[in-house]
Amino acid sequence: MRLVLLGPPGAGKGTQAKLLSEKFNIPHISTGDMLRDEVREKTELGHKVAEFVKIGELVPDDIVIKVVIHRLSKPDAKAGFILDGFPRTLKQAEELNKALRELNISIDRVIYFQTTPEVSIKRLSGRRVCEGCGVNFHLINMPPKHEGICDFCGKELFLREDDKEETVKKRLEIYRKETVSLIDYYKNNGSLREVSGDLEANKLNSQLLKMFAEEKLIAK
Ligand code: ADP
Ligand code: ZN
Repeated sequence: MRLVLLGPPGAGKGTQAKLLSEKFNIPHISTGDMLRDEVREKTELGHKVAEFVKIGELVPDDIVIKVVIHRLSKPDAKAGFILDGFPRTLKQAEELNKALRELNISIDRVIYFQTTPEVSIKRLSGRRVCEGCGVNFHLINMPPKHEGICDFCGKELFLREDDKEETVKKRLEIYRKETVSLIDYYKNNGSLREVSGDLEANKLNSQLLKMFAEEKLIAK
């Protein structure tokens, strides 16, 4: 199964991507995670993208496109993949299309996570990320067992620099300006399905699995 998850920051794409990736044993390809890893590891690419990521601006298309195409060429992506946070501009969508065409494959579904800016802001300002393993928690919706500490690896949780309210507002604005047009782009080729990002994570996950079964993407 090859999926693209589309929607504003804070719509719950990452959470669903993780659940689906475990269920179908296909890689969760999050450009945000990949770029943050590069920044943390202080690679050459990390240096190039750090400032964009920190202030919530889009990393230039040519850089992100290269990163994704390289990732898609790895053997584990042969079985399928879940793209989370890519494409985010028309140019990215077109380049993705081109690359997939060359590989003779296509995206099965684009899942559009519909939500309101209010929900996004609440989700992101309450989000806490583990500095060790990168897992996300939420102060109210998904609190860790011990305050400020990761359930899985025991390291400290922190608020992402770009999850501060001012930066979140900017990210939402960039989403409206650059990414919203992709909804129509994928509607036109028939692969778009809309879900509510406001649903509780497990509920939304069941809904997605039901939809995949009904559309015969997976066995019932
Ligand atoms: P969110 O979806 O919550 O906004 P991500 O973790 O997906 O956050 O992305 C964080 C940052 O990484 C973005 O603000 C941007 O700087 C960079 N980034 C991620 N994906 C892309 C992309 N497809 N194109 C350009 N920049 C990207
Ligand atoms: Zn952890």
